[in-house]
Amino acid sequence: MSRIVILGAGLGGVIMAYEIKDKIGPKDEVVVVNKGTSYSFVPSNPWVAVGWREAKEITVDLTKIFAQRGITLRPEGARRLMPDQNAIELNDGSTVDYDYLVLATGPDLAFDEIEGLGPSGFTYSVCQTDHAVTAKAGFDALVKAPGPVIIGAAQGASCFGPAYEFAFILENALRKAKVRDRVPMTFVTPEPYVGHLGLDGVGDTKGLLESALRERHIKWITNARITKVEAGQMAVEEVNDDGSLKASHALPFSYSMILPAFRGVPAVAGIEGLTNPRGFILIDKHQQNPKYPNVFGIGVCVAIPPTGKTPLPVGVPKTGFMIESMVTATAENIAALMKGEEPHAVATWNAICLADFGDDGIAFVAQPQIPPRNVNWSSQGAWVHTAKVAFERYFLHKIKQGVSETFYENAALSLLGIKKLKEVHSDAAP
Ligand SMILES: Cc1cc2nc3c(=O)[nH]c(=O)nc-3n(C[C@H](O)[C@H](O)[C@H](O)COP(=O)(O)OP(=O)(O)OC[C@H]3O[C@@H](n4cnc5c(N)ncnc54)[C@H](O)[C@@H]3O)c2cc1C
Repeated sequence: MSRIVILGAGLGGVIMAYEIKDKIGPKDEVVVVNKGTSYSFVPSNPWVAVGWREAKEITVDLTKIFAQRGITLRPEGARRLMPDQNAIELNDGSTVDYDYLVLATGPDLAFDEIEGLGPSGFTYSVCQTDHAVTAKAGFDALVKAPGPVIIGAAQGASCFGPAYEFAFILENALRKAKVRDRVPMTFVTPEPYVGHLGLDGVGDTKGLLESALRERHIKWITNARITKVEAGQMAVEEVNDDGSLKASHALPFSYSMILPAFRGVPAVAGIEGLTNPRGFILIDKHQQNPKYPNVFGIGVCVAIPPTGKTPLPVGVPKTGFMIESMVTATAENIAALMKGEEPHAVATWNAICLADFGDDGIAFVAQPQIPPRNVNWSSQGAWVHTAKVAFERYFLHKIKQGVSETFYENAALSLLGIKKLKEVHSDAAP
């Protein structure tokens, strides 16, 4: 009998629990350690922040669903991982032992790296659903007293799609509230060009996103480093391609939403051989940590090197489908280890993303995620908004039913020619 522990019940952790449960024997145990009992569909947070969704519509209580699936839920949260003892200390002082561990903690949000940034400072966030609820109160205040808006991402961020998405959704919501004419908008980003997205662009994301910003009268500053935020004012340094200072801006704002840089969570940060200096989990092509081979990493918490050199730090995003592919590979590899075999499954890490604008949107497929690519496609249209709503419903249904995959999803993915696992085994050439 083996015990598989999953740390984190977010997008990656929940489907990891379902997928591994289907692969192991009835006597093997799956335990999920999370902070609390609920799952929140993070991609819908921007809609919560403008009142298009209630937090409860995108939140699922996992207690009953996990119990029905025979998965143990430990909602105490982890204080510290002790990989040399194959154990996790929880916040109540108890410990959970494991034979195999999957780290799926998502990011720690590094608001503290910039003075005045974040919900305890002067800017809003949509990274967590409770942040989005607070941002909605800010939106209501903005509608009552319109003024300048700054949306964007901080240097070192690795999640740019949701920043663009939120700029367009907010723009749309302000138009519907008939106050857009009194809200000058600026998009601030460390990316070297609009549409870089941490991926050096996908298809023509540069052209599509520049044009969408222009059409909606949203100004932008790229190569932008935020140095300080005060009440109503943001200090931004714009740098040249060699990193030298090009211009300093003091931008006034009535409302601002800035995505912070990410780093690894405190429960794992600083463990020699497990994490990189930012606290992200070191993994090989099998999602396995080289020092602790019974520890795997999936989702936003894993270390991925940047696509190339940029004047300011710009991280690579970890998108939903890519995370699902990491889950599938990890489930295969843990099942292989349990049978005494070598891990062999390699996730595709393809990026498929739908960025919603409220009534329009941009979709892109990067296959593989890092260029040069076999598929490098982007497109714009109202269908993206419809697809995103359908995906939200479908994903939440999947979580509530306790299934990680269905026939429909497999069929759709095959039609698109996109697979979750690379068809390679051990070191065979792809
Ligand atoms: C605003 C936003 C919108 C996004 N939109 C999209 C999109 O449209 N499409 C897309 O493909 N991707 C999107 N992403 C990217 C990505 O898909 C999501 O961030 C996704 O939620 C990441 O999944 P995860 O499992 O890695 O982490 P998360 O979903 O963040 O889950 C991590 C879990 O670990 C838990 N945890 C953390 N520390 C501990 C601890 N010490 N003990 C116990 N539990 C812990 C957390 O409470 C959380 O439940 C978006 C990201 C953001 C921030």
